Amino acid sequence: MIVMKFGGSSVESAAAITRVAGIVQERLQQRPVVVVSAMGKTTNRLLEIAANAVASDRTEALRLLADLEKFHIAESPKTAASLIASHFHELIAVVEELAELKEFPAQYVDLISSYGERLSSQIVALTFRQLEMDAVHVDARDVIITDRRHAQAAPLYPRTYARLAAQVKPLAAQQIVVMGGFIGATQDGFTTTLGRGGSDFTAAIVGAGIGAEEIQIWTDVDGMLTCDPRIVPGGHRVKVISFGEAAELAYFGAKVLHPATVVPAMEKNIPVLILNSRNPSSEGTRIVADRVACTNPVKSIACKQDITLVNIVSLRMLMAHGFLRRIFEIFDRYRTPVDVVTTSEVSVSLTIDNTAHLDEICQELGQIAQVAVERDQALICLVGDSIRDTHGVALKIFQSLGDVNVRMISQSASSLNLSLLVASADLKSAVTSLHSNLFATLDTSVFDENVQ
Ligand code: ASP
Ligand code: MG
Repeated sequence: MIVMKFGGSSVESAAAITRVAGIVQERLQQRPVVVVSAMGKTTNRLLEIAANAVASDRTEALRLLADLEKFHIAESPKTAASLIASHFHELIAVVEELAELKEFPAQYVDLISSYGERLSSQIVALTFRQLEMDAVHVDARDVIITDRRHAQAAPLYPRTYARLAAQVKPLAAQQIVVMGGFIGATQDGFTTTLGRGGSDFTAAIVGAGIGAEEIQIWTDVDGMLTCDPRIVPGGHRVKVISFGEAAELAYFGAKVLHPATVVPAMEKNIPVLILNSRNPSSEGTRIVADRVACTNPVKSIACKQDITLVNIVSLRMLMAHGFLRRIFEIFDRYRTPVDVVTTSEVSVSLTIDNTAHLDEICQELGQIAQVAVERDQALICLVGDSIRDTHGVALKIFQSLGDVNVRMISQSASSLNLSLLVASADLKSAVTSLHSNLFATLDTSVFDENVQ
């Protein structure tokens, strides 16, 4: 059995859903369970409708709702007509309630946003049937049982796994099960969601619950690349990578997958594949629990732009204790995450990307130290678990950087990554030369030279 998850853009239209049907049909022997996101940008659109209703703009809310209904009708088979009508009928009632309430409690966020996946999963199941595929719809809210933390619910694993094993597994042995991602319900039946982007999480939970051999996340890119194509084109496809490495990359903006959401897969040692629904013959990227041996020390280079560097210097730090605590308390008080930190005897340098409270933070820091801020920096993050034990890798990295001024370097003892801070203006040239040096020869068991 396998789980195949298709994101919003993979099911954004009738044509896209038909393409998905073809991909599923080719894998019938593997007994797929299909998990889908809401069609296209439906979740955002539902939340916008709700915002209008809450702001007492009923007319605008209902107009947008009518547009959304038209969109669903246009992209669905005729057999879905009454189902779409009844869902939108309910949605009108939700809009009326929100307009009365004039506020948007988290239960309502979940209620209204759940309609995206409730609709898409039924529409996909009906489209499959139209194409003579033996599909059956399962309401995710009957099997994904969660706590009550609306908008960010966590599954109650023993119950959820028991239901998946009892209800989905036997069904999937006979038919193509289609479920909505992202949604669940509390034990007493209130609709919840797992947080934005939560369909990947659903796929991992379902995979773990039915004991799938593989969890496939179908997106619209060919998987992970050796570098961010927005910065430097010409990267190679990473064929296989570990969960730990993928997690480092995702944090640094490789948007393909949120690795925290695939923890259930990792715990049950189920490989996760990133595949491209617009180029299904590409093998994509396989994310595995074990270490991936590789003769290239680095598997991928990720970047994060718009970073601000904060330099804190104080002679009082010399031989004193409690200084770091005081610094971090200030960032904590303003809920500002710190990304990379380096220290010397008398100074601390750190980076942040959320500068909303920078002025207040600097003012407070100014009472205990000298503070200097530099904006327009960029972080380059080299990820690969062989970095730490490959001789000469640092030499190679610094040689590649030539005369680029590196502002900060960070690598921890057990870390899978080495981070470098450079001025934004130097980012492109730094990454270009790092990429060409670190991937001059490729370990072909890990990389595919041809992206496509
Ligand atoms: N539809 C939800 C969202 O847009 C969940 C998902 O697509 O993963 O956040
Ligand atoms: Mg997603």
